[in-house]
Amino acid sequence: MSKLIIVYHRQPYEEVLVDGKVERREPKSPNGIIPSLKSFFGNGNGGSWVAWTSTENATEEFERVVNITDSIGSYRVSRLQLTPEQVKSFYHVTSKEALWPILHSFKERYNYMPVDWSTFREVNWQFAQAAAAEADDGDIVWVHDYNLWLVPMYLRQLKPNVRIAFFHHTPFPSADMFNVLSWRAEIIESLLACDAIGFHIPRYTANFVAIAKSHFDVEEVESIPVRNEFSSRGMALSEERAPTKIRYQGRDIHLSSHPVGVDVDYIEATAKNSETKTKLAKIRDYLGDARLLLSVSRTDYTKGGVELLLAFERLLKARPELVGKVRLMHVSVQASNVEAYDEVQQEIESLCGRINGQFGTFEWQPVALLSTPVPFRELVAYYQAADVCWVTPLCDGLNLVSGEFVMAQRDDEDADVGALVLSEFAGAAVELNESILVNPFSHAAMDSAISQAIDMPQAERRARMRELKRKVRELDIKSWSAEQDRVFALVRESNLPKDEEPEYGNVA
Ligand code: UDP
Repeated sequence: MSKLIIVYHRQPYEEVLVDGKVERREPKSPNGIIPSLKSFFGNGNGGSWVAWTSTENATEEFERVVNITDSIGSYRVSRLQLTPEQVKSFYHVTSKEALWPILHSFKERYNYMPVDWSTFREVNWQFAQAAAAEADDGDIVWVHDYNLWLVPMYLRQLKPNVRIAFFHHTPFPSADMFNVLSWRAEIIESLLACDAIGFHIPRYTANFVAIAKSHFDVEEVESIPVRNEFSSRGMALSEERAPTKIRYQGRDIHLSSHPVGVDVDYIEATAKNSETKTKLAKIRDYLGDARLLLSVSRTDYTKGGVELLLAFERLLKARPELVGKVRLMHVSVQASNVEAYDEVQQEIESLCGRINGQFGTFEWQPVALLSTPVPFRELVAYYQAADVCWVTPLCDGLNLVSGEFVMAQRDDEDADVGALVLSEFAGAAVELNESILVNPFSHAAMDSAISQAIDMPQAERRARMRELKRKVRELDIKSWSAEQDRVFALVRESNLPKDEEPEYGNVA
C-alpha cells in the first residue's frame, strides 16, 4: 500500500510556548480543514505531513522531522524553516496581494509590484524537496492550495514516479481573469504535472480546463453531468457538466469537483449539548423581543462586509419600524500582518459607527461589531439564536458558515428556525439553492433578500431548512473524504511507470 504525504502550509497542531519550551497541542475542536486532512492518516495508515515553520522563534534543538502520536494515530511531520522575509514575501505579499485578488476576480486589487517571484519559486522548491524526501515511488503526495502551485512541477522533476494530487480550497477564476497573472503559463504547466486535481464545484474545474487548453495542447477526455444536489441553469456559478479527465503529453489527469463539507456529526452534537443550551438562553434573554441578524466572516474585501453593512443601513432607513427590533451581530475577524485588509477593516469600523450613530440610543445599538474570533462552540448558539444568517460574499471559494448555520438549526416540529440569505457568488450556493440566493452587486437584490428573510413565515423557513439540511448532510466532510479516496484509487492505477504497466498478451 502506498503512503500518503500531505503538503499544507500550516502544521497539523498548535505550538504553545510553556516555560520557554515549545509544546505541541492537538486542536481541541475537530472543526476545520486540518482535522479533516489528518483523518486520512487514520486506520493505522500513518503518513507524513509537510509544513513550514518560521525561523523567528527557532531554538537550537529544532527538529526538522518530528514523529507525532495523537488521537488519529502516528504520523511524521517534516518542517521546513522559512525566514521571516521568506514568509512575508511568499505568503503575505505574493499570495495575498497578487494571487488572492485574481483568484477572487478582483482585477483592480492585483498588486504585482512588490512580488518577488524568485522567492515564491524558492519556497515552493523547498516544499517540493521536503515532500520528495518523504515519498517513495508510487506514494501519493497531496498538495494543498494556491500558495504551493509550483510544487507539482518541482516534485515531478525530483521524483518522477510519485503520484501527485492537488486540491484547491479557493475559487478558480475564468481565463480572462486568471491570465492577468504574469506567471500564468508556469502555474498551469505545474498543475499539469499532477495526476489529479480537485476543486469545490464544477465551475472552477471547467475554468481550469479552459485555461489549460488555451495554454497547452490539453485534451478534455471525459466529463459527467453534475450531481443532482447542484443547482440548475441560470445561477451565477451553475454548470451542467463537470470535466473529469484531461490528457496532457500522454498522461491522464483526473479532475474532481466536490465541496469540502462541514462536520455534520460534530455540529449536531454541539447544537444539542447543555453548554450551547445555556448560552442560547442567555442570548435570547439579552435580545428580548429584538431579532438577531447574524453575519460571520473574516475581514476580507472578498467577503462583502462593507456591502452588507450598507444594505443594513438602507434597511433601517427604508423600514423604520425595524429600528429597535432587529440587531446585527457582525463578526468580522481581523487579520494580522495583511496590509491588503487594513483598508476594509477601517471601512467596516467606520460604517458600524455611522449606523450606530444614526439609529442607536444610549440603551440600544443596532450593530455589534466583533473583530476577534468567537469560539466555534459559542458560534453554534448564535446560529441557533439568529433569525437570519446573512452571508453575502462578493466571491467565496465555498463558505462553511452557511453550512454550519443550516446544521445548527433544530429539527423538532415546533422549533423556530432561521432563514439563510446566501450570495450566488459563494461556491456553497450551488448546493444550498433553497436559501434566499442573492446577487450582492445589486442594491435592489440585497434589499429585497434581507426583507424577504426577515418576513419569511416559519412554515416556509422549515420547509426550506429541511431541504438545505438534506443537502448539507449529503455533501458533508465524510463524503468529501470518500471522494478523495475514490480519486486516489484512480490515481494509483493510472500513469504507471513503464516497468509497472501490466503486460497484455497478443489479442488476436
Ligand atoms: N469561525 C469561527 N469563529 C469566528 C468566525 C469564523 O469559528 O468568529 C469559523 C467558522 O465557523 C468557519 C470558519 O471559521 O468554520 C470560516 O470558514 P468559511 O469557509 O466560512 O470562510 P473562510 O474564512 O475559510 O474563507
